[in-house]
Amino acid sequence: MTARVLIVDDIPPNLRLLEARLTAEYFEVLAATSGAEAIEYCEKGQCDIVLLDVMMPGMDGFEVCRRLKSQVATAHLPIVLVTALDQPADRVRGLEAGADDFLTKPIDEIALIARVRSLARLKVTVDELRNRAATTVALGMIAPFASPSADDGKRGRIMVVDDRASSAERLAQALGSHHTVSIEPDAHEALFRAAEDNVDLIVVSLGLANYDGLRLCSQIRSLERTRNLPILVVADLEDRQRVLRGLDFGVNDYLTRPVDRNELLARIRTQLRQKRYADSLREKVQQSIELALFDPLTGLNNRRFLENHLATMLENARVRRAPLTLMILDIDHFKQVNDTYGHDCGDEVLKSFADRLRGIIRGGDLLCRLGGEEFVIVMPNVDVAAAARIAERARLTIERERFGVDGGALAIPVTASIGVAERGPDDDSGSLYRRADRALYRAKSEGRNRVSADAA
Ligand code: GH3
Ligand code: MG
Ligand code: MG
Repeated sequence: MTARVLIVDDIPPNLRLLEARLTAEYFEVLAATSGAEAIEYCEKGQCDIVLLDVMMPGMDGFEVCRRLKSQVATAHLPIVLVTALDQPADRVRGLEAGADDFLTKPIDEIALIARVRSLARLKVTVDELRNRAATTVALGMIAPFASPSADDGKRGRIMVVDDRASSAERLAQALGSHHTVSIEPDAHEALFRAAEDNVDLIVVSLGLANYDGLRLCSQIRSLERTRNLPILVVADLEDRQRVLRGLDFGVNDYLTRPVDRNELLARIRTQLRQKRYADSLREKVQQSIELALFDPLTGLNNRRFLENHLATMLENARVRRAPLTLMILDIDHFKQVNDTYGHDCGDEVLKSFADRLRGIIRGGDLLCRLGGEEFVIVMPNVDVAAAARIAERARLTIERERFGVDGGALAIPVTASIGVAERGPDDDSGSLYRRADRALYRAKSEGRNRVSADAA
């Protein structure tokens, strides 16, 4: 896992030291000697992670951090503050400025590499999600997304896994003011609950008496349902090596005992913000997948899905030498429905029309809205004679009962014309569709509200 790391420090020897260590681990390194220069690199998208010295003349690290985190273009960049002062208050100040992490000078080499690696990993995931979501936004399919710092990082559902009652109680008390906390002394139960309950973050003590806390963390990471659950471990000073192992396989953050309450709250807030941000991106990607394949008005599959899936259905039918028919249904004089009752009523008719068709198809059939007032049903294992009977039933289902719209205030008579065609041995999606469309055209020209089957 490599990444472009921007190091920011006003003292050149410090820069060179960090640069040497990171380059040795195959990171690409950029250096800046002032806050302004650093912001410029970030705005141009030239780095993946920022290592930021706190004490700099002019704009200090806190201020640079605040500025980067307040701009949409740079807010997602992970920032590690580097401070000479090993003061909890300073760490908290940094985390409050939006920093994702911090390191203390003199910098511990193992911690440095572990931190940068784990942030690089997080960034890859978030970048991929951002790119996909950004495409969707650019296509105008969904609203633009906020930055991680837009969330206050409070009201999380947090599970504390600790079998020492006094320690668990202290953690729960510290978190209780901002979050909902539950304590779980049993590691097996914790794993089960992490997957079943709605948990936003898990705090794991590495000092469990009867279970290896680190093993619990790795199990959480490898289970599908908890893969994205943020893990924060609480460790004793002598657990350092285990903490680093954990960070390496995906533990998100750690605290050393005795736990400072403010630092605990600040770190949890950072994790919750990042999780909610990633969740919202994931949700947008999911939304875009749905938008790409489904028609939002009726919830039916759309034309794009049909175009892709029809070829597969035809191929399956060909291999099994089974019949397959395609039916196109087009509402008659639908323009008049819009003109007479308004576009909203037209939409209601389209929705009910889709619902009535849902009622006549069977399990293996594919029902799509092609666009406008045209629908398609693909029926495997159905020959043209049977399909014509099904089409006739569909026609009657539409004609028989008027369409109630406007909360039942109006009942609109609707009819549809239907064209049906069965696949021939040489048909591909296009030729099959064209034959059904010609049949539909015949049904229209012969007077509408009727079924026409392709004779070929
Ligand atoms: P024909 O019997 O020949 O099919 O006549 P028609 O009026 O149904 O056909 P035409 O293709 O001329 O008009 C289709 C109309 O469908 C025009 C368009 O305004 C309307 N339409 C297309 N999509 C939507 C939609 O999503 N909602 C609503 N309410 N109307 C739509
Ligand atoms: Mg029509
Ligand atoms: Mg039409």
